[in-house]
Amino acid sequence: MTPEAYYRQILETTSNGILVISRACEILEINRNAMAMFNIDDVRAIGKPIADVLPDGPREALIRIVEETFDEGFALNEEIAYWEETGIEIELGISGSLIVSDTGQPLATVICRDMTAKRELERLRKMDQLKSDYVNKVAHELRNPLTTIQAYSETAASMIEGEPKEFLGTVEDECNRMLSLIKEMLNISRLESGKLKLTLSEVDFGALVVQCVEQVRSHSDQHTLSLDSPAQLPKAKIDEDKIKEVVLNLLENAVKYSPEGGEIRVVVTAQDQMLSIAVSDCGIGIESEHLRHLFEKFYRVDSPGTRGIPGTGLGLAITKGIVDAHAGSIQVDSEVGQGTTFTVELPAVPATTQAPSNREP
Ligand code: ADP
Repeated sequence: MTPEAYYRQILETTSNGILVISRACEILEINRNAMAMFNIDDVRAIGKPIADVLPDGPREALIRIVEETFDEGFALNEEIAYWEETGIEIELGISGSLIVSDTGQPLATVICRDMTAKRELERLRKMDQLKSDYVNKVAHELRNPLTTIQAYSETAASMIEGEPKEFLGTVEDECNRMLSLIKEMLNISRLESGKLKLTLSEVDFGALVVQCVEQVRSHSDQHTLSLDSPAQLPKAKIDEDKIKEVVLNLLENAVKYSPEGGEIRVVVTAQDQMLSIAVSDCGIGIESEHLRHLFEKFYRVDSPGTRGIPGTGLGLAITKGIVDAHAGSIQVDSEVGQGTTFTVELPAVPATTQAPSNREP
């Protein structure tokens, strides 16, 4: 390959538009990207003045940048925007620098970067942030009145008997359902904004698991929950409330996705300063193609088995966020029609505890 062909390849494969312009403002070199950016489809543009070749939109700015390059030796990045004939808005970042030709003449090299994608990304990020802020705000506003309704229904139900008591029980159950949805919304927005802070303390992990198992057992009489845990476990430095949320979420999913009932086995082990909890069910199972997506937010398996089972697809995303924040790991193993096992491993004393623990705002 000749050196010329080699350099032409480099020029043509860069994602920027590049032009080399003479002192007389004529185009000496133009790569394909620059031709596409300025809608020039004729290679005979080479040798012509830029004023004749460029479309109206960017013409003035480009001439100014070329002149500045010859006058100052360079032109700093300038962002320009113009409307193409097709009605599309183009945004370019243009800069210039001087080079010297083989005959010793100064030439201006003009580099054009397409900023449209970057702007679009910024806009989407901003919209996403606005959406998260809005969700966060609404969730906060809904939480207080719902907590009041729930507390009053509970009190009123304790004062009466018969059918009205049942009605109030339903009101309370529905409030609880909405409150747990709101909790999920707040959790996910904290995770997204990086505000999930851990409040670490020395926790008896075994007792925490027993509490969670008891809680789930009390409202799922179709399932048999068994717990296998060593008598002696090292104390764990974890965020008690958040790890409780992790264990409860795995247990509640095991119940939810075993609609026929059956055994749910919880096995706790401790080895080399690592604590592990495995929750196994004999439920509907998960097809292998879904496994790697389960921890993405809003991901739900859509299958005949899951239809009719309520959920938001946020639980496992939050669970993973909490486990990651503890420098732990979560794994899933499943067979359709046989059941699923989720295993969480946590360092008994995570590396993060070396820094002082942060309280949640
Ligand atoms: P949700 O249960 O609210 O839909 P999750 O994030 O907790 O959300 O779970 C995501 C998806 O993973 C669920 O929709 C379900 O399809 C699947 N899944 C989770 N746990 C189990 C389980 N124990 N057995 C079968 N499928 C499960």
